[in-house]
Parts: sequence; structure tokens; C-alpha cells
Amino acid sequence: MSLPPLTLYLAAPRGFCAGVDRAIKIVEMALEKWGAPVYVRHEIVHNKFVVDGLRAKGAVFVKELDDCPDDRPVIFSAHGVPKAVPAEAARREMVYVDATCPLVSKVHIEAERHHAGGLQMVMIGHAGHPETVGTMGQLPEGEVILVETVADVANITPRDPEKLAFITQTTLSVDDTADIVAALQARFPAIVGPHKEDICYATTNRQGAVKAMAPKADAMLVIGAPNSSNSKRLVEVGRSAGCAYAQLVQRAEDIDWRALEGISSIGITAGASAPEVLVNEVIDAFRTRFDLTVEQVETAQENVEFKVPRVLREPAGA
Ligand code: SF4
Repeated sequence: MSLPPLTLYLAAPRGFCAGVDRAIKIVEMALEKWGAPVYVRHEIVHNKFVVDGLRAKGAVFVKELDDCPDDRPVIFSAHGVPKAVPAEAARREMVYVDATCPLVSKVHIEAERHHAGGLQMVMIGHAGHPETVGTMGQLPEGEVILVETVADVANITPRDPEKLAFITQTTLSVDDTADIVAALQARFPAIVGPHKEDICYATTNRQGAVKAMAPKADAMLVIGAPNSSNSKRLVEVGRSAGCAYAQLVQRAEDIDWRALEGISSIGITAGASAPEVLVNEVIDAFRTRFDLTVEQVETAQENVEFKVPRVLREPAGA
């Protein structure tokens, strides 16, 4: 029986970003240096496949520092942590490695700089997301006001509207964030902030590729985890760029083949914490059901790389 034809558009860039790559390397190198178990506070990156793989090598994932013994190394996830966490690890004289993405650390530094200059911060982000919790936790309670939507901007009551700055989560929707920034600037003309926002290159580029791909595709799948902010944003960007059926899948087994009946093209991308092996698994699943033509939709090239902390580049005992 001949298979129906299908054009598979593959977004580029997609998948792992430099911050995720570095965070995974940090856990692997810590396991090599200190042996198992190495404790990791929070999922190192939001991907079950990655977390399960590291767990099999001896990483132990915990929610809080209280769940770690004093005498084993602990790693903080790529999303960043409130200041109180490394402070507590130091107090307990633990060995700890901070895998916070340097682009998240940059936002932490921005927040501290503005705070030192007497400004109160407005953070655009998602309540409860570990990156938002970590960034807000850089400053004392009450110094960072969270806004999630344009509507929230009308309801905040800063200490002094003339002394405000804004920062953002790195994995937001570029377009939605621009609307929130515009609302902030309209209500608080004196507000200072970054040139546009703090959304990172990886988030921006993955959304850019989806915007180019979505209008051509009858359906679109984003490979990523349900708790991955940047992956969820890719689904939303796909829908608003004109692809009526855009869904998040963790693996090939999650694909709803019924919903894809009759399509002649599919767009595939992956969130910044989804490994390429899962992209290949999804492509292979399509290959068994369709006569596939794969076309890459490339909108940017990336060559960003972050070094792992020095402690892991030194031999054990150093
Ligand atoms: S998505 Fe951006 S901020 Fe987050 S880890 Fe990747 S590069 Fe860093």
C-alpha cells in the first residue's frame, strides 16, 4: 500500500539552547568529578527524558535544599534560584554548583543594579515559574512586583511611579511581552528597562522560526514538556501565526494521529529543553505513516556556547 504524501517542515533553530546544554553538562561533569549521588535542586531543565537520563546516571532530583544531605554536591537548575538558596548552601558548607543560565544571571544583575539605584522592579513573567521565583528572590520582599498580562499593569500600585524599572522572564512570547512593555511605558513614562525586554536569543529565534513555518503548515507539533515555558509559548505563537492545529507533545507516543488525518503538511519544532533525539523519534513516526518530504525552515543560525563553572574544569580534589 502506498503511503500518503506529507511535507514535513522542520524549524531551525529548534531544541537545545546554550543554557540547557551547559546545565546538562554541569550535572554530567559533577557526576564524573564527585561520583553519584549528586543532588539537583529542581528539574535541571524542563524535560522528562533529560531528567530520567541523568537520574539513571546517579543524579537525585529534589525540590528543596532541605532535601539534600550536607555532604553531597548539589546543583541549582538552569532557571536560577532565589539568593537565599546559595546562601543557605554556603551556611551548611555544602559543595554547590550553580547551573543558572548566564542569560538569566544577566537579568538578576540588572535587577540588583536598579535596586541599588533606588528603583522598584516590575517583573513581567509567569507566577510560580522557577525562573520568576529565582529572579524575584534576588531582591528583598516587596521590591519586585509581578505582572503577567496587560490587564495586570492597570492594577499595580508601586511605591513611587517615578522610580520604577522593568525586567522580564527570558522565555516569554516576544509579541505579548511587547504589549505589556508598551502598557507599562504608557502608565509609567519614567520606567526604565532593557532596550526591548530580557527574552533570550534562543526564545526569540525559536519563535521566529515558528512564525515563518506556521502559515505554511496544516498542523504543527512542538516537542517539549508541559511545564516548559518556552515550549508552551511556541504552541501559542504557532496558533497566532496562522496554524489552527498546534499541539505540544513530549514524545512520538503523544501524537494524536486521528487529529492529523487528511493533512498534507506538518510543522515540527522543539522547545529549548527538548533533545534532538526526540525530534528524530517524531520524524520517524511520521515516516512510518507518510511518504515524507522534509524541508528545513531556517530563520537564524546560532553559535552561542557557555562555559561550565571553573570548579568542574579542575580535577577532583582541586
Ligand atoms: S531558554 Fe534562554 S535563558 Fe533559558 S536556558 Fe536557554 S538560553 Fe538560557
